[in-house]
Amino acid sequence: MVFIISGPAGSGKGTVVSEILGRSENYICAVSATSRPILKGEVDGVNYHYITREAFEDKIKNGGVVEYTEYCGNYYGTLVSEFERADKLGKHLILEIEVDGATQIKKKYPSAVLIMVTPPDASEQSRRLFTRGRDTEESIAKRLRRAAEELDYLPKYDYLIINENGNLNEAVDDFFALARAEELRAACNIEFKNKYFGNTEKGE
Ligand code: 5GP
Repeated sequence: MVFIISGPAGSGKGTVVSEILGRSENYICAVSATSRPILKGEVDGVNYHYITREAFEDKIKNGGVVEYTEYCGNYYGTLVSEFERADKLGKHLILEIEVDGATQIKKKYPSAVLIMVTPPDASEQSRRLFTRGRDTEESIAKRLRRAAEELDYLPKYDYLIINENGNLNEAVDDFFALARAEELRAACNIEFKNKYFGNTEKGE
């Protein structure tokens, strides 16, 4: 299964994804490609595959990306090879991407599960961004405006996880609860009749 996690800056979505990967070996997180420069503390092939704009545009032309977007002047995209990697490993794939890319994937793969992770409200979002200390007041205002745009996409999403303060575990529990519900969907179990009859003619 493919799970797509989006959410405003300060939602804690990255931490939620790390906890999911820590709790279960059945998931891997896709490593996106980007044309933005590598930042201090980031590792090529771990945080992103860092490639030039030209190489990115080649990938778009050659069908090497499932979706992509231009965000703050840089390309970001999901590589087809990440879907293949998850398939080979027999693992569920988690993508942590923004709303535009998420809806592109949902169109191509209607069974992809779209999850929005948010802080409880805008004042908590801005408090988290101030505390994090990475943003100027201007960029915090920009991220709050962006959150309003992101939340406009909520009707296209399947689930909303509110990441309350000090309740990371609850947010992660919510993820596993919805993942289990998705696994139990009848549509995910079309092979069941064959299994039921031990793959005999009767079951076909
Ligand atoms: P950052 O530069 O802060 O790492 O990422 C900027 C934004 O790009 C974030 O909202 C992140 O979720 C989004 N992003 C990262 N990888 C991808 C991707 O493969 N596709 C899309 N559409 N967005 C991505």
